[in-house]
Amino acid sequence: MEGLQRADGVGDGRPPSILDAIGGSPLVEVEDGIFAKVEFLNPSGSIKARIAKYMIERAEIEGLLEPGMTIVEASSGNTGNAMSMVAAVKGYPMIVMMPGGMSSARLAISRAFGAEVREIGDFHVNDALVAAKELGQVKGYYSPGQFESEWNVDENRTWLGPEIVAQLTSERLPDALVMGVGTGGTLIGVGQAFLEVNPKAMVVGVEPDESCTILCGEVHHHQIEGISDGFIPTIYHRHHHLVDEVLPVTSADALVAMYEIARNQGMFVGPSSGANLVACRRLKTMYPKLKTIVTLFCDEGEKYVGEYFLADVPLRGGKAGLIGELERGS
Ligand code: PMP
Repeated sequence: MEGLQRADGVGDGRPPSILDAIGGSPLVEVEDGIFAKVEFLNPSGSIKARIAKYMIERAEIEGLLEPGMTIVEASSGNTGNAMSMVAAVKGYPMIVMMPGGMSSARLAISRAFGAEVREIGDFHVNDALVAAKELGQVKGYYSPGQFESEWNVDENRTWLGPEIVAQLTSERLPDALVMGVGTGGTLIGVGQAFLEVNPKAMVVGVEPDESCTILCGEVHHHQIEGISDGFIPTIYHRHHHLVDEVLPVTSADALVAMYEIARNQGMFVGPSSGANLVACRRLKTMYPKLKTIVTLFCDEGEKYVGEYFLADVPLRGGKAGLIGELERGS
C-alpha cells in the first residue's frame, strides 16, 4: 500500500497538490504530560483530511472508484469537507449527506469545494447515513462508508498513530490515548498503533455527557459536533474490546476548555478538542501514574465562529458565566 502513504511530491508519479500537505502536524505538550496532535492544521481544517485521502485512494487502487463516478458520503461536516476537497483535486463529483443543525461553516466549506450538500434529518447522522448507503449502491456512485469501513481504521493505525509515536522523544512511549468517538476510527486505529509499541497503553473514548450513547444508550442533542452522531458506529462495535474507558464530558465543560485552548495555547480549535482536553485532565487525576497522555485537536475554531465566537453562548449562566469562569481559571 505504498502509494497510500503521505506523498511529499517526490517519486510517486503524481503531480504535487494540496493533498501533499496532509499529515505531518506538530505534537504539542499542552499541559504537563498531556500531548495534543494539532490536526486542525490539515487542509480542509480537520483530522478528516487523512481518512478522506486514504479511503478515496484505496478505492481507486481496488478499482471501486473510477473516473466519472460520483462520491457520496454521510458526514456531520468534517469528513464531508475533507472528501469534497479530495474530490475537487481529483475531479470527482461529490455529494455530502449531512444532517440539519450543524455549524453553517461546515456546510459552506463543502459547497465551496464544489460538492452538492443534501441536508437530511436533524442533528444526528442516522438518516443521512441511510441515504448515502442507498445512493452508494446505485451504478456510477461510490460511498466510502467512514462509519463502517476498516480502511478508516487502517489509515489511523498505519499513518497517524506511527506519526505520533515517532514525535514522542525516545524515552517516552504513549501511556494513553484520549479521543472522542465519531466513527471511532481515530480511537481504534491510533489505539492499535499505541498498543503495538506499549501493550499497556490505555485506550480511552470520550462522549458528550448529554448524549452518552456508549455508556448509557442515550441519544440527545449536544454541542460537541463531530462526536456522538446518534448511534454506536460499527467500527466501535467491532473493536470495543480494545477500549479501556469511556469518559463523558458535558458540552459546557468542552466549550470552556475550547476557549481556554485559544486563550492559553494560541490554538483556535472546535468543541471536540475542548472535550478531549477535559477528558485528559480527568484521566490524569484518575491515574496519576500516566506520564504521557496523547489526544488530538481535531478541527479548527473557524468552523464555529458563528455559533460560539460571535453570538451569546448558552452556557452556565450565559456568556457572563462563561467569561467569569475563564477569568477565574486564567
Ligand atoms: N472531532 C471532530 C471535530 C470530528 O469531526 C470527528 C469526526 N467526525 C471526531 C472528533 C471523531 O473522529 P472519529 O470519526 O475518528 O471518531
